[in-house]
Amino acid sequence: MKIGFIGLGNMGAPMAANLAAAGHQVSGFDTAAPCPAGVSPAESAANAAKDAEVVITMLPNGTILRTVADEILPVMSRGAVHLDCSTVDVTSARDVATQAADFGVDALDAPVSGGTGGASAGTLTFMVGGSDAAFATVRPLFDVMGQRSVHCGPAGNGQAAKICNNMILGVTMIATCEAFALADKLGLDRQAMFDVVSTSSGQSWSMNTYCPAPGVGPTSPADNGYQPGFAADLMLKDLRLSQEAAEAVDADTPLGAAARDLYAQFVEAEGGAGRDFSAMLPRFAGRGRG
Ligand code: NAD
Repeated sequence: MKIGFIGLGNMGAPMAANLAAAGHQVSGFDTAAPCPAGVSPAESAANAAKDAEVVITMLPNGTILRTVADEILPVMSRGAVHLDCSTVDVTSARDVATQAADFGVDALDAPVSGGTGGASAGTLTFMVGGSDAAFATVRPLFDVMGQRSVHCGPAGNGQAAKICNNMILGVTMIATCEAFALADKLGLDRQAMFDVVSTSSGQSWSMNTYCPAPGVGPTSPADNGYQPGFAADLMLKDLRLSQEAAEAVDADTPLGAAARDLYAQFVEAEGGAGRDFSAMLPRFAGRGRG
């Protein structure tokens, strides 16, 4: 397939490289990052998008997505697909899909989970919003870049699924970390705590797969000095998106709001920036109630 790829950062570069390695013809553009091996550099986003059957964007936020959409949609072929894999607000995803339709372009929002490791290994999960036809067109590309793609409904539903999932993740990580810190103060050994909770009703992905306590459970960023992994900054971004969405549709999400506030404090005032999101455990362990 002829593919345009715009946004060749930590995630976009390995995704584009995997598509090229699978034999697709990939033309790439980024305002700052270089093109990875196998991807031919274009002079602009519009040049990368022109004549492509599928244009993939992997950008930092909804404002930048809207700017890039303004540049690429007018030059894209009618019937081509714009596949946005960035994590952005639901409103931007839906607005860009409507704008795409005005230009005869089919739009999909397909945010990912799996991080940079998953992007390099081609094992991402895609949560997809948009038409059945566009999903069918792009499915072979999902199979190269990932191991699972779930069609969640019309435009914006991929972003909705992503922020709901990550709101649960943020809340359960905080709950797991504060429970470990309480267990410490109650004199409960961390290994015993893990052995009980990971096989009891308090279990979750945060405890069982990504245990925030070093030396306990499976290997996780806690065993590597809390180097990300999934950075607390990115968790904060996703929690803010979930709360923007909750406000827009008048949904009551008190724990999501509390998680956003706690990650904001951690990242912006307590040195959490650049650390894994599970570094909430040393944060809690070092504090008292006051
Ligand atoms: P990144 O900052 O490394 O990459 C974004 C790239 O977009 C940069 O190289 C930047 O130069 C480029 N860019 C910015 N404006 C541009 C423009 N107008 N035209 C062309 N290129 C432009 O970010 P990332 O880690 O690759 O994340 C990309 C997206 O994926 C984000 O929405 C993020 O939330 C999401 N995501 C990231 C991870 C992760 O672990 N890094 C995991 C899941 C989802």
